[in-house]
Amino acid sequence: MNALEIENLSKNYGLLAALNDISLTIPEGSFFALLGPNGAGKSTLINILAGLTRASSGRAAILGHDVLKDWRQARFKLGVVPQELAYDPFFTVREMLSLQSGYFGLGNKNRAWINELIATLGLEDKADITMNHLSGGMKRRVLIAQALVHRPPVVILDEPTAGVDVALRAKLWTFMRDLNAQGQTIILTTHYLEEAENMCETIAILDRGRLVVNAGKKELLSRYRWRQVQLQLLPESGLELPEELKAKQIAAPAGELLLRLHRETDHIGEVLAALTQAGIKFSDLKIHEPGLTEVYSELTGKGDSLD
Ligand code: ADP
Repeated sequence: MNALEIENLSKNYGLLAALNDISLTIPEGSFFALLGPNGAGKSTLINILAGLTRASSGRAAILGHDVLKDWRQARFKLGVVPQELAYDPFFTVREMLSLQSGYFGLGNKNRAWINELIATLGLEDKADITMNHLSGGMKRRVLIAQALVHRPPVVILDEPTAGVDVALRAKLWTFMRDLNAQGQTIILTTHYLEEAENMCETIAILDRGRLVVNAGKKELLSRYRWRQVQLQLLPESGLELPEELKAKQIAAPAGELLLRLHRETDHIGEVLAALTQAGIKFSDLKIHEPGLTEVYSELTGKGDSLD
């Protein structure tokens, strides 16, 4: 069963195509990153899935339940942790969670799970405190608990670690990994690319309403063909590069030489031999393999060419 099935989904705001013919399938149990610059359409997509916005055309289903025709079941299968801290300031943490539980028709039977969420998210001391007295990090934890109150099998976390301190971020990572290990499908949007790279096995990138890529992490990283070679120059080194390498040089601090080499066509051995022949002497060498940052910049039009 697929956690999400999105087919030819479009959303127009007047002349603006916030989503332009998106098709995407996310298998159950995935840890999935949905990335893209501001304005890419991520929130629009999440809002359509959560039943808050209506698509202009196309369809979306959560665990086989169409978000329009079968919205009640679709909504039941999904938990969304919103990006913005929206809450009623005068409810206590426990009241917020009970209210949400009631909204899904879950009564007292759900109390044990609410207690478990409060404990897992480290909210025990705060359970009877009103929301307006909590720190930003604590409020974010409550919103996560709120999204999980009805035990949704598919969870979307929209920028859960934005503005969160290092300790809480690490805690949230562990929490998300545990949820996924228990079989929940996790869909994460984040601006921290290293977070997506560390956590997610599949990555989709949206840009200006279009799906630019949807691929396994390894496959995605292997598409990038460039790497950087960094040399620490010795004081007695020559500085004149051989002619064929001049175009490959990129700006570097004094005492260093940085070359951008094609993974397949620039052979490291040949490059080093050419440098040595030109009198370039170095004490150390490092090779930087590309990460998600390079691939992302490339695919969203801010980086080097892929080929
Ligand atoms: P993201 O979450 O990736 O930053 P959004 O989904 O918020 O992107 O926005 C996608 C595009 O749709 C943006 O150009 C945004 O200005 C536009 N947009 C979003 N919501 C509305 C709306 N209610 N009315 C008009 N335009 C909107």
